[in-house]
Amino acid sequence: SAPEPLLEVGGLRSGYGKIAVLHGIDLHIGAGEVVSLLGPNGAGKTTLLRAISGLLPVTAGRVRFGGADLAGGDPRAAARAGLVHVIEGHRVFTQISVTDNLLLAGYDLPRRERAERVEEALSYFPEIAAKRQDKGGALSGGQQQMLAVAQGLVQRPRLLMLDEPSAGLSPVLVDRVLGVVRALKERGTAVLLVEQLIEKALAVSDRVYALAQGHLVLEAGAGEADLPHRLERAYFGQD
Ligand code: ATP
Repeated sequence: SAPEPLLEVGGLRSGYGKIAVLHGIDLHIGAGEVVSLLGPNGAGKTTLLRAISGLLPVTAGRVRFGGADLAGGDPRAAARAGLVHVIEGHRVFTQISVTDNLLLAGYDLPRRERAERVEEALSYFPEIAAKRQDKGGALSGGQQQMLAVAQGLVQRPRLLMLDEPSAGLSPVLVDRVLGVVRALKERGTAVLLVEQLIEKALAVSDRVYALAQGHLVLEAGAGEADLPHRLERAYFGQD
């Protein structure tokens, strides 16, 4: 039989208190696969990442990761298992150095391993590496966003979930972040990417899901013909 995917989400429902947002989501991500999660504002993309990583309770369904059930509501346990979520608009610590921001992200690791992981994370971001002694607050907004991604990498994820990593970035930095996604894939790390820049997201992805009003409305290979047009129609329920 086929091996179980790295991430398998089945019948997932979640929301905020009595407000149901996700109405039964089924999706899967293989080891080393890059998958984009697209959809209009308010579709539930951020909510889905939060439910998968345990930042939100799951009201029904399951999240299996690495062949085991993830207990809902425990993001630290998810991160220890290798599922790391870089939240949208994540704030870095502005009063401590770049290096200390990264060391903090690996607070539960042995000292030597922590130092190695910090170097590994910095190797993806030369601009940040050049400012490692500077305070977090001395970085530009875009650089702080990249530092947040680097903090996720310190945990050496098997699956990295990125929520709009390009938001507010200049085109050069957008390409840098998406280049990191490519490099991660080459090293066997899977990525689930929420992105508004459809063409850019497709260019680094293997597959794509579209979410609209809390339902998955499309699943496709990222290279399929006419995808931007099909996505747009799926968003607005004309498929
Ligand atoms: P965007 O691209 O705008 O970030 P999204 O697809 O990520 O959109 P979500 O942020 O997941 O969408 O929002 C899905 C729905 O959940 C929206 O109707 C939103 O108003 C609602 N929602 C989000 N956060 C909360 C919250 N903390 N409490 C109540 N409702 C919320």
